[in-house]
Amino acid sequence: MKVKEFDALIVGGGLSGLAAGLELSREWNVALLSKVNPVRSHSGAAQGGINAALGNHPDGREDTPERHAFDTVKGSDYLADQDVVMFMCKEAPKIVIEFESMGAPFSRFEDGKIAQRPFGGAGFPRTCYAADRTGHALLHTLYEQCIRQGVIFYDEFFLIDLITIENRVVGLIALDIASGNLEILRAPYVILATGGFGRIYRASTNALICTGDGVGASFRAGVPMQDCEFVQFHPTCLYGSDILMSEGARGEGGLLFNNKNERFMLKIAPEAKELAPRDIVARAITTEINEGRGFEDAFIHLDLTHLGAKRIKERLPGIRDIAIDFAGVDSIEKPIPVHAGHHYSMGGIGTKYEGDFCETSLNGLWAVGENACVSVHGANRLGGNSLLETSVFGRYIDENF
Ligand SMILES: Cc1cc2nc3c(=O)[nH]c(=O)nc-3n(C[C@H](O)[C@H](O)[C@H](O)COP(=O)(O)OP(=O)(O)OC[C@H]3O[C@@H](n4cnc5c(N)ncnc54)[C@H](O)[C@@H]3O)c2cc1C
Repeated sequence: MKVKEFDALIVGGGLSGLAAGLELSREWNVALLSKVNPVRSHSGAAQGGINAALGNHPDGREDTPERHAFDTVKGSDYLADQDVVMFMCKEAPKIVIEFESMGAPFSRFEDGKIAQRPFGGAGFPRTCYAADRTGHALLHTLYEQCIRQGVIFYDEFFLIDLITIENRVVGLIALDIASGNLEILRAPYVILATGGFGRIYRASTNALICTGDGVGASFRAGVPMQDCEFVQFHPTCLYGSDILMSEGARGEGGLLFNNKNERFMLKIAPEAKELAPRDIVARAITTEINEGRGFEDAFIHLDLTHLGAKRIKERLPGIRDIAIDFAGVDSIEKPIPVHAGHHYSMGGIGTKYEGDFCETSLNGLWAVGENACVSVHGANRLGGNSLLETSVFGRYIDENF
């Protein structure tokens, strides 16, 4: 078996893997393997947006990284690691401006600034977006940059296991899916960026590829997992297929109604209403259904009709298409049937070993993105903070090797 040698190996071609690839390939010989073509990674499904305290909203209110950090820590039920949260929130404006300068097609306000919409748990319109296809836009932007910079890609290579000697990772075994051959790739550093593991749930917004392979491989190599008990349920999954109806829909003004035509969030969260944190809205929806106030005992209504055709087509075109294709409902004319479902696992590969944000207890093994638990989300992630996490910590790897 021919062994391929590199300075570092990255497993995963989603936003976190590509961000790490772009940084490390500036000086190192880096290979990135992914079980699907990188632009098919699950990051491409992210709809709503990425958080940064740019303070662009025309209402003129000032936003700051400190406010972003406060909302993140509060949303996490005070269980996030505050030093990591502060670091992420301070980096956020820089990250978004960098994406903009790489050509990411962000939606804009009238004055030309990057548009920002309100998301749950944030006291401010802080979520930057590219219509309701933000992940797709950012993923393609980073992929282009990685190609330009000469990252070596192994597409459709499947990580089987890590190779370790004593307490050090020295490479990995991968299956080349096209040929069926097993390959050994060696490097003194391996970065796991293999995404989430939502597919352990029956009803999940996650793609079929989100099977937690990297988490499994690192666990088998002796790395402990962290925060596994913290699982996020998204309030609005499309009834029948569990496809996500982005929080951006409520950020744009979408309302939730039960079968008595009541806006039940008015009594559950009188201030934040439909934009309360996800755990609160998901619990409220499930309670309405369980107590007989749902439709067909299975869903409640997400109503966008009052937003009007122009705004829906401009700001939520993907949501409209998905509801038409998978539920036969045109959101311009009728409310969308939704219920809560698994969306995100806050836990993952335990990092922050000996103080470094992304380093694990196995020498040479790092973890970034959704498969890692750098602990910025605590018990509950705020919408828009995950795309941010992937991009911030993917890049951070380079500064700390
Ligand atoms: C429907 C949906 C919408 C979302 N919307 C938002 C949003 O608007 N804003 C936000 O902040 N967050 C959002 N999130 C969360 C966010 O999209 C993800 O947390 C983030 O994109 C994960 O990125 P990642 O790079 O860690 O992993 P992924 O993008 O999932 O990439 C994982 C990579 O690992 C590779 N891989 C996995 N296993 C193997 C293996 N065995 N061998 C080789 N390669 C492997 C895959 O091929 C893939 O390239 C959303 C999540 C969902 C489910």
